[in-house]
Amino acid sequence: MKIGFIGLGNMGGPMAANLSAAGHDVTGFDLVTPCPEGVAKADNAQAAAQGADVVITMLPNGAILRSVAAEIIPVMAKGSCFLDCSTVDVESARAVADQAQVAGLLAVDAPVSGGIGGASAGTLTFMAGGTDEGFAMVAPLFNIMGQKAVHCGESGAGQSAKICNNMILGVTMIATCEAFAMADKLGLDRQKMFDVVSTSSGSSWSMNTYCPAPGIGPQSPADNGYNPGFAAELMLKDLGLSQQAAENIDADTPMGALAKALYAEFVENEGGRGQDFSAMLPRFEKRGRTS
Ligand code: NAD
Repeated sequence: MKIGFIGLGNMGGPMAANLSAAGHDVTGFDLVTPCPEGVAKADNAQAAAQGADVVITMLPNGAILRSVAAEIIPVMAKGSCFLDCSTVDVESARAVADQAQVAGLLAVDAPVSGGIGGASAGTLTFMAGGTDEGFAMVAPLFNIMGQKAVHCGESGAGQSAKICNNMILGVTMIATCEAFAMADKLGLDRQKMFDVVSTSSGSSWSMNTYCPAPGIGPQSPADNGYNPGFAAELMLKDLGLSQQAAENIDADTPMGALAKALYAEFVENEGGRGQDFSAMLPRFEKRGRTS
């Protein structure tokens, strides 16, 4: 396929490189980041999009997605597909898909999980929203960039799945960290705590796969000085998107709201920016009930 790729940062760069390595003809554009090997450089977003079968965007937020979409939709070929893999608010995803469809294009929103490691290794998980026709057109690309793709429903369903998943993740990571810090104060050995909880009803991905305690459980960012991994500020972004959606649809999400407030405090006032989101454990270690 002829593919345009816009947004070649930490995630987009390796995703574009994997598509090129698999034999696709990839032309990329980024305001700042250079194109990876195998990806031809376009001078602007329109040049990357013109004549492409599929245009993939991997951008920081919904406002930027909307502005790039406004630029490229008018020059995209009828019947081609606008595939957005960024994590953005559900409303932006739906608005961009509507504009694309009005212009005679297919549109799929497909945010990812798996992080920078998954983007490089081609093992991302895609959660997709859009028509069957759109999903079928880009499914072969998901197979190259990732190991799993779930068609979740209509436009916006991919972003909906992503923010629900990450709201659970933020809440369970905080719960796991506060429980470890409390166990310390109770004099409980961390390894024993892991051995029990990881095989009991308190188990979760945060405990079993991504344990926030250094030296315990499988290798995780905790074993690497809490270098991300998945940075706390990205978790804060996703929790913000989930709260924005919850407000728009009048969903009661008290745990999600509290998780967002705690990550905001951590990132903005407690030195959490640039640390992995599991660095909530050393945060709780240092605290008592009132400070
Ligand atoms: P990044 O900041 O490394 O990359 C974004 C790129 O977009 C940058 O290179 C930037 O120069 C470029 N860009 C910004 N505005 C542009 C424009 N108008 N035209 C062209 N290029 C433009 O971010 P990232 O880590 O690659 O994340 C991209 C998306 O993926 C985000 O929505 C993020 O939430 C999501 N995501 C990231 C991770 C992760 O672990 N990093 C995991 C899952 C999802």
